[in-house]
Amino acid sequence: MAENKQMKMMEREHKDGSMRFPMVEIEGASSGPILTVTAGVHGSEYNGIDAAVRLIDEVDPKQLSGTLRLVPVANVPGFLARSEAVVPMDDRNLNRVFPGDPDGSYSAALADFLWTTAVEDCDYLIDMHGGDIFEALVPYIGVAQVDDERVTRETLEMGRVYGLPYILEPRGLPGAEDGLSLAAAAREYGIPAILSEVGGEGVLCPDDADTHMRGVVNVMRHLDMLSGEPTVDAPARELETDFWTIEREGLIYPLLELDDSVEEGQRMAVIKDWFGETVQELYAPHDATIIAVVTTLAAREGAVIYQVALDE
Ligand SMILES: [Zn+2]
Repeated sequence: MAENKQMKMMEREHKDGSMRFPMVEIEGASSGPILTVTAGVHGSEYNGIDAAVRLIDEVDPKQLSGTLRLVPVANVPGFLARSEAVVPMDDRNLNRVFPGDPDGSYSAALADFLWTTAVEDCDYLIDMHGGDIFEALVPYIGVAQVDDERVTRETLEMGRVYGLPYILEPRGLPGAEDGLSLAAAAREYGIPAILSEVGGEGVLCPDDADTHMRGVVNVMRHLDMLSGEPTVDAPARELETDFWTIEREGLIYPLLELDDSVEEGQRMAVIKDWFGETVQELYAPHDATIIAVVTTLAAREGAVIYQVALDE
């Protein structure tokens, strides 16, 4: 069996330090597509990482058609530093710099290294996330439409079989001016791709990792890489998503909880200054459902405090 599971630390040099990430290729007994499954692009989102390493054992090459390629920790420096969202060498969000640049900053070069090694030649991509250190969230799939109708359709199909309660398409993504998320870059290059998000607050929760594993197995069944039908509890709600940010630093006190419905104009958060004085009250700009909420008291200027699903 071992010869059908290639496990390797991939390494490449950069002027600001060497780059490395673990990669596993499980080659099936019969032919089929290449599915790349990444985790740890955000190094402190543990449920995806745990699901990826458990899939190494779980998937039997004899039962597999095609190739399952796993990258359990894409952002090793962020994982080791317990960073929130960023790569510590340059403080950039790795999930905003794809497909990357081999001659760019450490994050851009790491993105290029991941892209050219693990993603570029795959047929389908799942990028597993786990809710970062600063947020709690409702499990969801991130998708987006692209010009290629096949890619848009197959992306949505993968999202529907993953089995999470929401499928969300962004209206705008903060910090996307430098590049794309991994899944968005894949879609732009003709690879159906989803982001899956389960868990939060930098906590490893075995049930959440199980949810990811079931989602990946469901997608593999959908793609006929494994036998059997996907098992989904209920159809996902498919909605647009938006990110609500704050304009000043301070101590942030959100007033809404996960899955709350909020009405336009409803008071949603209070910001206090360093001395405990309330300096701003925030009101919801639209009707929405709360998908993610910041759970750290600390808030920088421009920080996201809620991710929301916009009601139809
Ligand atoms: Zn993430």
